[in-house]
Amino acid sequence: MAEKRDYYEVLGVDRNATEDEIKKAYRQIAKKYHPDLNPGDKEAEAKFKEANEAYEVLSDSDKKAKYDRFGHAGVDPSYGAGQGGAYGGFGGMDFDLGDIFSSFFGGFGQRSANPNAPQRGSDVHATVTISFEEAAKGCKKTVNIERIEVCDTCSGSGAAPGTSAQTCPECNGSGQIRVQQRTFLGVISTTRTCSKCGGRGTFIPNPCSTCRGAGRVRKPATVEVDIPAGIDDREAFPSRGNGNKGINGGPAGDLIINVHVRPHPFFERDGYNIWCEVTVSFVQAALGDMLQVPTLDGKVKFPLPPGTQPGKVIQLKGKGIPYKNSRGVGDQLVRFIVEVPRKLTQKQKDILLQFNEEMGNKPPEKPEEDKKGFFGKKKK
Ligand SMILES: [Zn+2]
Ligand SMILES: [Zn+2]
Repeated sequence: MAEKRDYYEVLGVDRNATEDEIKKAYRQIAKKYHPDLNPGDKEAEAKFKEANEAYEVLSDSDKKAKYDRFGHAGVDPSYGAGQGGAYGGFGGMDFDLGDIFSSFFGGFGQRSANPNAPQRGSDVHATVTISFEEAAKGCKKTVNIERIEVCDTCSGSGAAPGTSAQTCPECNGSGQIRVQQRTFLGVISTTRTCSKCGGRGTFIPNPCSTCRGAGRVRKPATVEVDIPAGIDDREAFPSRGNGNKGINGGPAGDLIINVHVRPHPFFERDGYNIWCEVTVSFVQAALGDMLQVPTLDGKVKFPLPPGTQPGKVIQLKGKGIPYKNSRGVGDQLVRFIVEVPRKLTQKQKDILLQFNEEMGNKPPEKPEEDKKGFFGKKKK
């Protein structure tokens, strides 16, 4: 396979391009190579896929930053030989060490007064890029993440196989140490958290080597998520219980999916409505025509009434985007653009002049060259 092309080159933008410029460039390419517009064209399909991939990275500030630093290896773990990819190895930068070790070293960054109390696992975040159609209809996506799970080696006990946690000899399992202090009032007895066991009352003489006694490890996981129909670009939703495992039997956190939606070459979303433009000739606009209008459900027949004016908007009921959290669906709005021919043969001009006469209008005057610059600056 050929060398992978630079994503900026694929979209034809420079490295300082704004988010808007990247979106615009993507839409242009998507319009040119969209499979709907190039049925059966393998090369167009490949270009469309390449543009999708480039957009997925460059439209995501996180991935873009990684790509800018490390190139393809920064965003694609399978790219190139060795490691060093942003996803390579365990213990990435967003890895919350405290989360794993708080269960063991109860005294550090203590979250709960009782180190044996159940704690909910923290959330894990992932970004998924989907097409306009997938956002409208809903879809299933497989997400590869890393999250904290129970250690297989010790089944979560934190103790090396064949050994177990023992009652802390320092506090006899109470987790508290009684301390006597001599003050001017006499001897006062107070308690403090046992430093040997961190208040847990047990300690692990032979910690599991896989998890270093934490009972939990960070692992890659593949999660299938149902993306709800109607979701919009930059919206997030939780996949419940798919985040980091809880501590002491606490519930798992959620997997928060941040959704990016690729712009569509000819549909534009406005809330739950979809806008599109359909270009017709002035003859079609004047005489009317049976049109094929693209919708998310494929093309629908639409009778264009005679005498349709430029900019006329019609509504296709129920052809929009389904409401995300309730019943109902938006509409599609179609704006008709009337195209005026730019180049005419002499015969066509004659027919138009004849038509003009038939309409009872005087023949138009030949426009003079714009010497005085009425219509803006003249080019040199
Ligand atoms: Zn372990
Ligand atoms: Zn103790």
